[in-house]
Amino acid sequence: MIIFGTSNSTIHPKKLEDGSCPYCKTQDNMWIQGYHKYVHIFWIPFFSIGKKVYMVCGHCKGAFEKTEIQDQRLIQSFQDGKKNQIKTPWYHFIGLMLLVMVILLISVTPYLTNTP
Ligand SMILES: [Zn+2]
Repeated sequence: MIIFGTSNSTIHPKKLEDGSCPYCKTQDNMWIQGYHKYVHIFWIPFFSIGKKVYMVCGHCKGAFEKTEIQDQRLIQSFQDGKKNQIKTPWYHFIGLMLLVMVILLISVTPYLTNTP
């Protein structure tokens, strides 16, 4: 039985500004795609441990790492997209939020039950 481990959640693809595919040379059809990695305990996401992001061509479906791209504009667009559009989803921290809530509840319970 798996109590805890790591899991991935896919990042919704976002279109990049300009750039062309390094493989099939199709213009303006490059997408930013990837996944977030997180630690889960009993399948509840606890915290994020990073992300893997890459570029995908909408035409030939080729996937490319940043290091495989020569086009500086495309790299810039990729960097901006990674920074501005690829946010860690809040629910990756839901386990931590639940933990904080439980701790808060435990600490206020004596005050609630002891009132006459
Ligand atoms: Zn392509």
